[in-house]
Amino acid sequence: MDIRQGIGYDLHRIVEGRPLIIGGIRIPSSFGLLGHSDADVLAHAITDALLGALALGDIGGHFPDSDPAYKNADSMLLLSKVFQMVQAKGYMISNIDSVIIAEKPKMAPYIDEIVNSISGALNMDSSRVSVKAKTNEGVDSIGEGLAIAAWANVLLVAE
Ligand code: MG
Repeated sequence: MDIRQGIGYDLHRIVEGRPLIIGGIRIPSSFGLLGHSDADVLAHAITDALLGALALGDIGGHFPDSDPAYKNADSMLLLSKVFQMVQAKGYMISNIDSVIIAEKPKMAPYIDEIVNSISGALNMDSSRVSVKAKTNEGVDSIGEGLAIAAWANVLLVAE
């Protein structure tokens, strides 16, 4: 069986005056994340995991932040574009596991919505998408509320 796994990681600085978008969902918050695109840290981690599984480079190579076309870009659309590349290569996504690391705000109330957003964008059953959230227990830049990070792992199976 031809299976391939990929890992993705991303981190964005917390800033005032931008929306906080995680997995395509706008989370009520007094701050957002800094980035050229919409800075959707979870969408970026999953996108990189898909690209990594296929050894196709990374999100910065495909959607450079020097390109004005991606200014404030909807990262879920970038994720959809990479999903099309996965399909074109003849793979399906078996499952996704992911972690959001954020000291604040609490992610738990939004997890189901985030799962549905990601599974919808990738045409998957929501039972195959896992999104977990952790704090960093007040330790390091994430724990001090300066940044939010995400990890993602994907498994692809050749169709
Ligand atoms: Mg990013």
